[in-house]
Amino acid sequence: MKKHNFNPGPSIMPEFTIKKTAEHILDMNGIGLSLMEISHRSKEYSAVNEEAQSLLKEILDIPAGYAVLFLQGGASLQFCMVPYNLLNKKAAYLETGSWAKKAIKEAKFFGEVDVVASSADRNFSYIPKNYTIPTDADYFHVTTNNTIYGTEIKKDIDSPVPLVADASSDILSRPMDVSKYAIIYGGVQKNLGPAGVGFVIIKEDILGKFERNIPTMLNYKTHIEGNSLFNTPACITVFACVQTMKWLKNLGGLKAMHRINIEKSALLYDEIDRNKLFIPTVADKEDRSIMNVTFVMHENYKELESGFLEYASSKGMVGIKGHRSVGGFRASIYNAMPKESVQAFIEVMKEFELKN
Ligand SMILES: *Cc1c(COP(=O)(O)O)cnc(C)c1O
Repeated sequence: MKKHNFNPGPSIMPEFTIKKTAEHILDMNGIGLSLMEISHRSKEYSAVNEEAQSLLKEILDIPAGYAVLFLQGGASLQFCMVPYNLLNKKAAYLETGSWAKKAIKEAKFFGEVDVVASSADRNFSYIPKNYTIPTDADYFHVTTNNTIYGTEIKKDIDSPVPLVADASSDILSRPMDVSKYAIIYGGVQKNLGPAGVGFVIIKEDILGKFERNIPTMLNYKTHIEGNSLFNTPACITVFACVQTMKWLKNLGGLKAMHRINIEKSALLYDEIDRNKLFIPTVADKEDRSIMNVTFVMHENYKELESGFLEYASSKGMVGIKGHRSVGGFRASIYNAMPKESVQAFIEVMKEFELKN
């Protein structure tokens, strides 16, 4: 039976990415060696490293003055590297979920943290608005898409201080005005490639504003000067990311991708709003994520929750159980998720409604 992969991360990858990576693991460019076996300083891998940077710059339209890095440690290491390199006295954070809380926890090791607004009062089911970003903060940190709670900041914020974004789960889902950000980072395992790497888009002149001794591996300058090859990178993961970016470019780039993502998420939200069995967890349509669609059983049908999970699973739906902190269901519909799979899931929701 065909499986429809709604896993939140690691998650669905384009078939193109999986096939190309498999081919090159068997034989890199026909040289008779595996991608796993070659030096990260070889001619073959240097080309991959260059292409990873140049494709991300091209697709996201990254202005001059920014470096692109692919580092190990995922988004979680960036929770620490960002304040290590940028937090001198005080940083401002927007608390929109578990990942934001983890980022805040790390920042507190380095200085004062001003949580300017939080949506914790309603279990992170909305994006706070009408807050003030302190102009004396070293930077302002946001999580653009809250993977667990299904909320998303869909517009690039105007910030009076350098803006830093964890975009792990919505990178390359829409065009972004990169010039508004000092750093955009994330783990690659949602929209780019298999786990193992964090991407970092960093405005170079943001660094070196104050004195601090930073361990070599945690210093952005090390990796910028090392052209993202200071130490042995996760070559297979970076190679796979390149394939996904080629796939995306071929599809028409971010404008086309965004259109498809809006269409897919609208189909699913419309069904959740219509179906008597379900209610969305994010009431405000403006805040609803186009990547992670969260919903729960309507209170009149609470006892059907496990039945729905079983039924959906019997129909090939994978990964739709909601995160334990929200409950219910979450359908992660990242870039690689075909519209047909979203439609198949909607059919399952309709069938289950008719049965009950
Ligand atoms: C998945 C995720 C992370 C964690 O990424 P790791 O690479 O596992 O550290 C952080 N932030 C957000 C928004 C995520 O979705």
